[in-house]
Amino acid sequence: MSTQRLRSILPHLEELTYAELKKLKHEVDGLISQNQVGEVIAEREENLTGCPHCSSNQLSRWGFTKQGVQRFKCKACLQTFNALKGTPLYRMRMSQKWLKYNALMWHGSTLRQCAKELDINLRTAFRWRHAFLKAPANTDIQPLSGVIEADETFINESFKGKRRLHRDARKRGGGKVPKTPILIALNREGSVIHEVVDFNTKENICRFLKSRIADGSVLCTDGNKSYIEVVNGRKIDHKRIVGLDKVRVVENIYHIQTLNNYMMHWKEWMVRFRGVGREYLPHYLSWFRYMKQNEKSDQGLLFAAMTNT
Ligand SMILES: [Zn+2]
Repeated sequence: MSTQRLRSILPHLEELTYAELKKLKHEVDGLISQNQVGEVIAEREENLTGCPHCSSNQLSRWGFTKQGVQRFKCKACLQTFNALKGTPLYRMRMSQKWLKYNALMWHGSTLRQCAKELDINLRTAFRWRHAFLKAPANTDIQPLSGVIEADETFINESFKGKRRLHRDARKRGGGKVPKTPILIALNREGSVIHEVVDFNTKENICRFLKSRIADGSVLCTDGNKSYIEVVNGRKIDHKRIVGLDKVRVVENIYHIQTLNNYMMHWKEWMVRFRGVGREYLPHYLSWFRYMKQNEKSDQGLLFAAMTNT
């Protein structure tokens, strides 16, 4: 469209009612989303080197999906696929809503908010959430270096939809709701690693941490003796912050307050989701980490999902 024609349309926008403006915005958002998604797909198509099933490079174009995405057929194994094959978004529909969904997630919207805003059902909202979270959860992180803080934290277990289990657990724990341990370590540059475990044993802590901290770094922990084993035989300076309050600072800079604050914010942020099943906790940890590390870009989740396999 020519600039002149576009300019002639713009004044008409002022004639629109609020409801009409909202509808228009919805349409525009959808078109932008499809455009951006289309660009990434086109790039993936260009880089397609072979069949994802059998690696043969004898491919032919084979019509389009309902979403308008180019479909390919492999002449060797006869399978059909499109350029998103292998990504978490393969076979997901309504690409015109992905970008908006991504933005809602970036703001930490609940499933209900996402479903309402985008006019999709709760099950779709749930499926999309975890498709978008696959990439941040799979991020390969270099071993931590510099000043590292490590600790364990606990979160009340949620047995949403598992009533029997909940009752048994209550009985077993003498009325107390069981707590799930989370192992976490971070450095002052903003790298964070975490793992949800069954028990915070020395074995689990060593397995979690040993290979993921670099020699030459400084490890700050509380008095938990498991961490002594972690640094055993390594060129790592271990600062144990021993004391009841855990807020002590050693030699002016060694403490575990960055980590305590991080987990406090994560737990506050989690409240809105009203109980998350244990198996999904890693995704929520990664989601939070992603938001912390990408505070300026709100489209990253979508594009990470489209390029992650
Ligand atoms: Zn094939």
